[in-house]
Amino acid sequence: MDRDTTVLVLGDQLNDGITPLLERPPGSARILMVESEQKIASKRWHRQRIHLILSAMRHFAAERRAGGDEVDLRSAKTLGAGIDAHRTETGVEHIVAMAPASWEARRSLEAMGVELVPNNAFLCSETDFAEWADGRSTLRMEAFYRWQRQRLDLLMTADGPEGGRWNYDDENRERPPKDGRSWPTIERFELDEIDEAVIAEHPGSFGSPPEGWWPVTRQQAMHRLDEFVATGLDPFGPHEDAMIATEWKLAHSTLSPALNLGLLHPAEVVEAAIAAYERGEARLNSVEGFVRQIIGWREYVWGLYWQWMPDYRDRNDLGADRPIPPAFLGQPTDMACVANVVAKIDDKGWAHHIERLMVLGNLSLTAGIDPQAVTDWMWAGFVDGAEWVMVPNVVGMALHADGGQMATKPYASGGAYINRMSDHCRGCRFDPRKRTGDDACPFTTLYWDFLARNEDALGANHRMGRPLASMRRLTDLEEVRRRASEVLTALDAGTL
Ligand code: SF4
Repeated sequence: MDRDTTVLVLGDQLNDGITPLLERPPGSARILMVESEQKIASKRWHRQRIHLILSAMRHFAAERRAGGDEVDLRSAKTLGAGIDAHRTETGVEHIVAMAPASWEARRSLEAMGVELVPNNAFLCSETDFAEWADGRSTLRMEAFYRWQRQRLDLLMTADGPEGGRWNYDDENRERPPKDGRSWPTIERFELDEIDEAVIAEHPGSFGSPPEGWWPVTRQQAMHRLDEFVATGLDPFGPHEDAMIATEWKLAHSTLSPALNLGLLHPAEVVEAAIAAYERGEARLNSVEGFVRQIIGWREYVWGLYWQWMPDYRDRNDLGADRPIPPAFLGQPTDMACVANVVAKIDDKGWAHHIERLMVLGNLSLTAGIDPQAVTDWMWAGFVDGAEWVMVPNVVGMALHADGGQMATKPYASGGAYINRMSDHCRGCRFDPRKRTGDDACPFTTLYWDFLARNEDALGANHRMGRPLASMRRLTDLEEVRRRASEVLTALDAGTL
């Protein structure tokens, strides 16, 4: 036991392999974990989100304790108050922690004299990313992803990318199948006494209570990974962008909460997927699409966060200032797609990437909702939320609030995209083809209004030339804009 040092383990660092625990196997470490009352009270957390983090922390503490570590898991007003109390009670001054995933936490731990060691929870560290970014005029995901594939030697052959192509997106955009097929199911984990205690102490603010969908231990997380590789990976690719009203996850992995808490490491996740491909158990387009999510998008977003913080989180280049609409907060809405996705979030604290981007993000973008409010709402409402996840995804990707620094063009679309990629419109009172009239689809109306409203800001973007030209050719643009004003008023009032 290292008597002179305490390892501070944060709630998203729950792995024996984190940098400061690598040389302190179970039985040899003194560990401090703090449940911060201030953090718990800081947002309108989803019940399953607050449960997931606290339960996973307590399970990790119990496991390390059982392995012989001295573990001080305490509740305190703030993280700083917890560290102070630990120092006073144990007399141990030297505290070491893996560099936190959030900008603020790094600053405050440094100010408290905590020694920070490099964060090894990603395959591409912030410093590696900064080296990759150095000298580039644009930081595009595709270039980053190819660089990752090459340097990590994943899905590569001597001649180049496996199968001869970097990207199988064109095989992964199929519409929802109409054959009534069943999708892979996942097992629920039984709640134990730790779970029950967390639920009793922290009931949370909204959403369905925890039902055991989200792994709270390393063992459960490994089970979820094995389950996905065995049943979800192969069918994942073709319909990864499709949305089905009655299906909450289709063949998506649902591994992001376990990854974001540190219960799984991205290396083992992609290695398991590639091994399944090599055994002939999963098709290449599915495996490549999944690997792209993990070593591409996920690590790209992590790298951008550190590259551009702290100013980036406050970017609002389009001057969007609407509040979060009541429809996102559970108020009934006639927009079937929104009602369905919000119900899924309420039910499980999770929705897949296209539901987030093309329903919630798209409406937020075209309606002009405040990007910082959307960031906060998603961070608190999703079981896999975190600042490093939400800031680039919302400010950059979904809401184009960074003037195109991240995405080359805004992800704005009318109801036609949702109609093509989902079965939502069939049960909706609005018509995705209409842009005016009482039954016009709000997405379609707001799409054109968004282009008109932001014509000056988007005019210099050559990828927006055609959409803007189409908008200018609309003969009913005045009527569209009048209808858009009604839609926005109803959206704000919760009557849409
Ligand atoms: Fe959503 Fe419009 Fe389709 Fe209704 S018609 S489900 S509002 S996209």
